[in-house]
Amino acid sequence: MSIAENIAAVRANMTAAAIAAGRDPAEIRLCAATKMNDSEAVREAIRCGVDCCGENRVQELTAKLAEHAYEGAPVHFIGHLQTNKVRQVVGRVALIQSVDSLRLLEAIQAEALRQGIRQDILLEINIGREASKSGFLPEELAPILEKIPDFPNLRVRGLMAIPPICQNPGANGKFFQEMYNLSVDITAKKSDNVSVDILSMGMSDDYADAIRWGSTMIRVGTAIFGPRSYAKPHQQ
Ligand SMILES: *Cc1c(COP(=O)(O)O)cnc(C)c1O
Repeated sequence: MSIAENIAAVRANMTAAAIAAGRDPAEIRLCAATKMNDSEAVREAIRCGVDCCGENRVQELTAKLAEHAYEGAPVHFIGHLQTNKVRQVVGRVALIQSVDSLRLLEAIQAEALRQGIRQDILLEINIGREASKSGFLPEELAPILEKIPDFPNLRVRGLMAIPPICQNPGANGKFFQEMYNLSVDITAKKSDNVSVDILSMGMSDDYADAIRWGSTMIRVGTAIFGPRSYAKPHQQ
């Protein structure tokens, strides 16, 4: 299957899932998770109409930006971001989806202030409470939101989650539902630099389920580009 055929299939599934849930398909965006795929594959995905690209690693982001791979679509950062690398990401991506600590919020604020810009971000929630994953625990969200007015160069656009790897289809429904509830809670809390309209959840194996539970942005890699080859030495 080509990237074009894969994207057409994902789009058809997205539309079907939205309609089955009584939702408008136009309110759900498709973010291509481009890790380990080269600039040519990224350009092809953009030609085939993905709404944005999501990059995991700073090194890959920097390399593909230098090759103008993302022309025609916004690029987001979706991987774990170390505070010492914020300078390579802030101002270069439309959205940092994976803000997972107070220290990182502080570092992004400082860099955005230095550049004189406002950086859009999502707060990542560790919804499955997994020790192996980063992100705020659900109960940490309210106290973090109270601190957001201290970060005038940031704008919180919503929440992002990577639920546990699902064992059987539909298993992550409860996590998606919890995420939806959290996002409804924070949408009600309006403040100057909180403007919530994005709920980023759902990947290749579970995006239809995520759409059913209110996702407005799915991040899809394998179902667009095929399995990632971890063997290729130039793509670590
Ligand atoms: C890789 C990745 C995805 C996409 O995963 P697939 O299962 O290949 O669709 C989505 N979100 C994040 C944060 C990722 O790292």
